[in-house]
Amino acid sequence: MHRLFHNATVHAMNPATGWTPQGRWHSHEMPHPNTILTSEDRIVAVGDYRELRDLAPLGTERTDLGGTYVLPGMGDGHIHSAMYSRSLIEPDMRHCTTLDEAMAVLRPFVEQARADPTVTWIFGGQWNINAWTTPERPDRRVLDSVAPDIPVALSSLDLHTLWLNSRALQELGLDRTVKDPDGGEFERDEHGELTGVLKEAAAIPIRDGLMQSDVSGSIDSYLPLGQRELLKRGITSIHDIDGVDCLNAYRKLHERGDLDIRVHKILRQEQIQDFIQRGIRTHSGDEWISMGPLKLFADGALGSHTCHMSQAWPGTHDHGMAVMEPEELEHWIRTAASAGIAAAVHAIGDQAATEALDAIARSQSMARAFGLRHRIEHAQYLKPGDVPRLRELGVTASMQPMHCTTDIPLNGFLEDRDLVAYGWNTLREADVETVFGSDAPVEDPNPFHGIHAAITRTRDGLPVGGWQPHETVPRADAVRCYTHAVARASYEENLKGCLAPGMLADFVSVDRDVFAEDAEAVRDTVVEATVVGAQIRYQRED
Ligand SMILES: [Zn+2]
Ligand SMILES: [Zn+2]
Repeated sequence: MHRLFHNATVHAMNPATGWTPQGRWHSHEMPHPNTILTSEDRIVAVGDYRELRDLAPLGTERTDLGGTYVLPGMGDGHIHSAMYSRSLIEPDMRHCTTLDEAMAVLRPFVEQARADPTVTWIFGGQWNINAWTTPERPDRRVLDSVAPDIPVALSSLDLHTLWLNSRALQELGLDRTVKDPDGGEFERDEHGELTGVLKEAAAIPIRDGLMQSDVSGSIDSYLPLGQRELLKRGITSIHDIDGVDCLNAYRKLHERGDLDIRVHKILRQEQIQDFIQRGIRTHSGDEWISMGPLKLFADGALGSHTCHMSQAWPGTHDHGMAVMEPEELEHWIRTAASAGIAAAVHAIGDQAATEALDAIARSQSMARAFGLRHRIEHAQYLKPGDVPRLRELGVTASMQPMHCTTDIPLNGFLEDRDLVAYGWNTLREADVETVFGSDAPVEDPNPFHGIHAAITRTRDGLPVGGWQPHETVPRADAVRCYTHAVARASYEENLKGCLAPGMLADFVSVDRDVFAEDAEAVRDTVVEATVVGAQIRYQRED
């Protein structure tokens, strides 16, 4: 079936019509097309309505886009979509500024659980100790006072720390005899008793295990809620970081005909041997669900000072945490690469990035043979000397603009250090492939919030002129990092990322011209409709 989507200003972002993948923008001077002709799930033509109307076959349906602006469908290069979907129905403490407020958020969920015997655990959290104005610390006893009888497991905002109550510790069989794993810690009080706070390698496997067990409720029931919210924000493709249960849930949705967004599924270490045995490679799959790289952790996070830095945190000898030692990192990158699976290495600290690049360099011939596009997730702090290495090694920097503007208050320590921080423009000028995402539920997955952060480096207008404003990027580049770059990172630049004949008809219709509006107004862009595979999957209701 053919369809004419007409009456819009179409930003095709097509390199063939003057817009190059390097982000040099020319077509804004040219008249914009106002119509897209589709056949089945593909774009057939992009052009002028009067011409395309005459060319379209008999029986072509028409959709009036109401004078809106059209962009290629937005991608999210790094999202925990199962956790994000869950977060929509769970306690969310990200805006709490005291421990009391956090407990007030939790209380109704405990009451609800008491009334509903099917709820056996409480998850959620997004608590952010850096936003607490009082010097309190999370502790199991505080949770026990609100939730003495139901197990509670609350993730920190950066997802690297887990806060459990006594009931949860008991259910998990954790007590003072438990040993700290490499790259992780079970926090203890002065008597050696567990405080209920688990860090890094102590937290992440437990959280993932819980999420994939029966106690976490049915992922099939909440994943569609997340999908709906993503479409509402103009997102048509995601690179998902969550577990294999999430992959299976998307497969089920797809079989039922209810999958409305395209999923590039990043693989977890726990399942990698199984994937290798089944011959699964990065980039295998189809246009709806494709296999991504193997996610590895080189370090922790900024908020907990567990990211691995070459220079110690001010006033300490603490360099953060190497979650994986260089040899182990190299082992996993090699194992995966020899099976045609790329690596996506989480590296926030500059030392973590250096070690990830070293490991990638040592297995470079395999990556070349398989055409793998390795990635560094976050790449928040980089030594200036590592920037050209990213390009030389063909490594994509997968970054989250909103982390930058959230983290401004935490970055005072950078003053006397020669580091590239959230260095989007430095990477752009060095021709490093950069892809943007949200890391939701850490941040809201709204790509227009991300574009705003990328072009201003401000939050609520501050600091005036932007934080390290030399690292802002031009708008076309910011949009490209959410469109073409996301497609390229999933080996699909010939299918998605611009609006051109032969491409999938994935696009978003919005209420304003993000290339012409005031930068602040870009943030408030409203999605009118989201089209995936030439079908309207979301339409705004008044
Ligand atoms: Zn991460
Ligand atoms: Zn993440």
